[in-house]
Amino acid sequence: MIDDTHKADRTSWVSSANGHATFPIQNLPLGVFSPDCGSARGGIAIGDSIFDIGAALEAGLFTGAARDAAEAAAGRILNPLLEAGPAARQALRRRVGDILDANNADAVKAIAGRLVHDSDRCAMHLPARIGDFTDFFAGIHHAETAGRINRPDNPLMPNYKYVPVAYHSRASSVRPSGGLVRRPNGQRKPPEQAAPDFGPCRNLDYELELGVWIGPGNDIGSPIPIAEASRHVAGFCLLNDWSARDIQSWESQPLGPFLSKSLSTFVSPWIVTAEALAPFRIAQPPRPAGDPAPLPHLNDPADQAHGGFDIGFQVLLLTPKMRQAGAAPHGLSRSNASMLYWTVAQMVAHHTSNGCNLQPGDLFGSGTVSGTAPGSEGCLLEMTRGGRNPVSFPNGETRTYLVDGDEVIFRATARRDGFVSIGFGECRGTVTEALALG
Ligand code: MN
Repeated sequence: MIDDTHKADRTSWVSSANGHATFPIQNLPLGVFSPDCGSARGGIAIGDSIFDIGAALEAGLFTGAARDAAEAAAGRILNPLLEAGPAARQALRRRVGDILDANNADAVKAIAGRLVHDSDRCAMHLPARIGDFTDFFAGIHHAETAGRINRPDNPLMPNYKYVPVAYHSRASSVRPSGGLVRRPNGQRKPPEQAAPDFGPCRNLDYELELGVWIGPGNDIGSPIPIAEASRHVAGFCLLNDWSARDIQSWESQPLGPFLSKSLSTFVSPWIVTAEALAPFRIAQPPRPAGDPAPLPHLNDPADQAHGGFDIGFQVLLLTPKMRQAGAAPHGLSRSNASMLYWTVAQMVAHHTSNGCNLQPGDLFGSGTVSGTAPGSEGCLLEMTRGGRNPVSFPNGETRTYLVDGDEVIFRATARRDGFVSIGFGECRGTVTEALALG
């Protein structure tokens, strides 16, 4: 999987890409953008610019399999490319890498202005039409810490180490990074209150998750074996699973979260491809002594050897007071994808093991990715122990849960010695006030 597209000495004629912390030529993530006054179309991030796949097609820069792939990626949703699978993505990646290579500068000099747009002047959209969104619970330290708040002696349910637990969440309210999330109204029932009332969520939280974009998928009734699961994973993003904790704790019994999650989910707009992340794959960390082995249909030696990822995550918060003072956002926590108890391939195999069909453009959330140390919590519920211990910031402010005007920012970087680091781009969202009750 590691090839010339990952070579560390490769540079681009898009000079901002060289040394770029997020989008060097070794990354080439896929997205959908609108340039100034232009229609939505497929593109690839390169430095501070966006490569216009359709413009390159018009200029005749693609042939063969790369041309088919570029045609599937040039429109206003990337579902056709996701459906086409890894060979198509790889052909597109190889050819776009060559087009953007510094050695190709002379060949494209005359049309370079048409091939790339300044990303500051572009709007980003969701990269795909999302048929279904499934949210997993694979962050074991989140599951334990959150479970301990309600069940101190028995934080993990007995199924946790056998079943990659998940629920079907809402696809229609998934939005791209950068927008506002409205504080939801809902039913709240604090323990001291005999009956619920309806009003603005008091315990609004974020959840730091790895998002997974599904590729070809399967027919109903035809499970994806774990050994084939990675063929169906097109790429990754950051995902903020906004969570209304007070609404969640009241509504979730017995069928799980509903309106506490469907208010909205934000994703970073770029699909960082499975190919771009190949150098950052790691062995799935061994299960602690005494844990059961995964059941055979979830246990694949190759997946255990290469199915994990070393991706560093950071959560930052910009409060209205910090914004007014011109201060930088405050770093709340850091975590890593290696904290997940289940691999993405195990999620795919489990999801389809009953015959359920996945479709191109389906989205998974990994579950909140938390570590064990203070400062590695993936949500405020954990960081504040259910709102009991406020966190304080250098400017004297404190938070238990989010306040209107707070902006939550997620970042992710994959690093490995000998390779150029790549980033995901940000997933940002700002909380806005609840609708007034009529
Ligand atoms: Mn979640």
